[in-house]
Amino acid sequence: MSKVWVLGHGQLGAMLQHAAMPLSVEVIPVDIDSEQLPDLQADDVVTAEREQWPTTPVTEKLAKHPNFINLDVFGRLADRLTQKQLLDDLGLATSPWKLVDDTLAAEQVYAELGERALMKRRTGGYDGRGQFWLKQSENTQIPDDWRNEAIVEQGINFDEEMAIVGVRDREGKKFFYPLTLTLQLNGVLTASVAPLARLDKLQPKAEAMLGKLLDGLDYVGVMAMECFRVGDELIVNELAPRVHNTAHWTQAGASVSQFESHIRAVAGVPLAKPQVKGLNVMINLLGTPHDERWWAISGAEPYWYGKEVREGRKVGHITFTHSGDKKLIQGLDELKALLPERYEEVIDWVETAVQS
Ligand code: ADP
Ligand code: MG
Repeated sequence: MSKVWVLGHGQLGAMLQHAAMPLSVEVIPVDIDSEQLPDLQADDVVTAEREQWPTTPVTEKLAKHPNFINLDVFGRLADRLTQKQLLDDLGLATSPWKLVDDTLAAEQVYAELGERALMKRRTGGYDGRGQFWLKQSENTQIPDDWRNEAIVEQGINFDEEMAIVGVRDREGKKFFYPLTLTLQLNGVLTASVAPLARLDKLQPKAEAMLGKLLDGLDYVGVMAMECFRVGDELIVNELAPRVHNTAHWTQAGASVSQFESHIRAVAGVPLAKPQVKGLNVMINLLGTPHDERWWAISGAEPYWYGKEVREGRKVGHITFTHSGDKKLIQGLDELKALLPERYEEVIDWVETAVQS
């Protein structure tokens, strides 16, 4: 049985492990702070559930393994500076940007990027953290502690946000999941819907863009590309060299989930074209206490991560796969009644999106 070690032991590692069982691939998520070092064998494979990690005895050992797939890609994408440079080098549309260095003045940002610009920490930001808006109307200046640690990019007045996830094997064969419409609230993915017929015309464009990245990096496994839609154009927001929250719906809604695709690719199991089973919805459970009644909602497939519940923390998700009747809306309404009030706008967004 082949063995895949995962750097990190959060929910993504657990979902990779879950998906790998029928493949007869043993997936072992690794706590990077563990005192026990992984017992790596020469034929084993190493992957990661996160794009960045501190140096610990465990990560050092994993990173030395010759079969750490895509090792050089992680650092490149984890730093927004090199990620932006990569997008520019490949000629992929992304919001115009500048490095926030010692001398950059806010006035220069407004002159070159427009009246709204978003500073993003080069590393470590996630779920909307590590961001700072510069607004000309408020004459916002660049705080000193953002210098040499951030990029700044044009604020995009997008129509909506979406993401595409694709997989590539060692021979360069690729498959893509359909574009997924996403709702970010306070920078955190809260719900997603896929596929939507109205986005079909953008699918070839999205696949060509992500395909260029996958081939350009000689990448093996699953990668996610978050985009803004502005009219008929797609602008790349950011990339993630790993399985991604925007494709969690594939667990219930595709013949091969993103987790299975990733493991197949890195372990050298043949890839298969994912068949999408219907219209899919995913709702993230953010700081929401466990509720057994979710499991009784018709059509709902809850996935609980087993983590301690803290405010805003991703503790699970619920997917629905719609087979074409009214049950989806019924199920969503049932769920709405069981979730905190703040979910009202989320479910309303989903119900509007699935009918769009
Ligand atoms: P994170 O790693 O936190 O997901 P993102 O770069 O995806 O960082 O930013 C989080 C959210 O902030 C995005 O989903 C989007 O809603 C908003 N955002 C990011 N960049 C821009 C931009 N250039 N213009 C407008 N909104 C943006
Ligand atoms: Mg993002």
